[in-house]
Amino acid sequence: MDLLNTLVEKGLRRESPTREEALAVLATSDDELLDVVAAAGKVRRAWFGRRVKLNYLVNLKSGLCPEDCSYCSQRLGSKAEILKYTWLKPEEAAAAASAGVAGGAKRVCLVASGRGPTDRDVERVTKTIAAIKEQNEEVEVCACLGLLSEGQASRLKDAGADAYNHNLNTSEATYGDITTTHTYADRVETVQQAQAAGMSACSGLIAGMGESDEDLVDVVFSLRELDPDSVPVNFLIPFEGTPLAKEWNLTPQRCLRILAMVRFVCPDVEVRLAGGREVHLRSMQPLALHLANSIFLGDYLTSEGQAGKDDLAMIADAGFEVEGADTTTLPEHRRDAAAHGGCGGHGEGGCGPCGGGEPAAVPADGADAPEAVTAGGPRTDLVAVRRRGAGTDLPPNA
Ligand code: SF4
Repeated sequence: MDLLNTLVEKGLRRESPTREEALAVLATSDDELLDVVAAAGKVRRAWFGRRVKLNYLVNLKSGLCPEDCSYCSQRLGSKAEILKYTWLKPEEAAAAASAGVAGGAKRVCLVASGRGPTDRDVERVTKTIAAIKEQNEEVEVCACLGLLSEGQASRLKDAGADAYNHNLNTSEATYGDITTTHTYADRVETVQQAQAAGMSACSGLIAGMGESDEDLVDVVFSLRELDPDSVPVNFLIPFEGTPLAKEWNLTPQRCLRILAMVRFVCPDVEVRLAGGREVHLRSMQPLALHLANSIFLGDYLTSEGQAGKDDLAMIADAGFEVEGADTTTLPEHRRDAAAHGGCGGHGEGGCGPCGGGEPAAVPADGADAPEAVTAGGPRTDLVAVRRRGAGTDLPPNA
């Protein structure tokens, strides 16, 4: 297939596909799917080998957000029956982080619901980072606290935050349909503040919110332009109690095409398989490891993920290996360019999706029979609110 040969060659040169080529990847047929995965897999292996980086989410503050992001279980007015709690103490967060590190996580993502942190919140997070690094000196810490005010990025960097996450989530054209309490431009500005302060930027998207192929290509090209070091790809978890509860429109095949397109557009960037992989990829999850070089271990912010031990078994069974603490994730040219050389060489994504976390849902009543399995049909039986880990009395899933 000429298209795929061209895309592999471009990916190996860190050259951007055209918009038409990116759209063509999304339009491939199921007959072509394995060829698409194999082609994008060549680009993935060229830059990241068979390594899989593990990341672990710690939800520092859960629920009760004044913002109205439609995909988020923590949004204003959400009826999702998620855990709600205010800031974890530094030692509680450090204990949760240690569980993730013990499970193989190389990065801990500290997420807090809300529009953005107050200076007092930044002070709390500073203490939390210190507590985590005291126990696990080598672990990368990524903060995900919402929109930043002037000076806060530098304070987080000085506190030891290695990275900052703030997702673009969707295209600029449709952003106003998803959220009204802040703008796409606000999000871009926060990512740029993090970069300017010297933190590694993490910014990604959420697929499955009713967007078009053009929207998906738009947001991924915008991410390439913004030049983050890592791009989390979330698949909407349609939580009951949120406005997008009925948006069950992804299939495993669609998810794989989206991941392949992201890999071709951002060939040498850490592409992270994020929230919703269990719900939408289901038994096809291992194929996604040929496209993404990074995943979240265990649970998400407000929903439960696959058991951590099953994540590790999946990686081993698929012939991949967990990336060790002594290995640098990014290819050398990106490290040397202070990570601002372009997600391909030209200059270079609740918070958990509000950063890497997840859009939200209420679990199906255990007494109910599972709904029929149809391509893209509702699978509410697969969505469970997180009841374990930080903020609960139950041990974390790592
Ligand atoms: S994504 Fe973040 S800012 Fe938006 S509603 Fe959720 S917690 Fe609030």
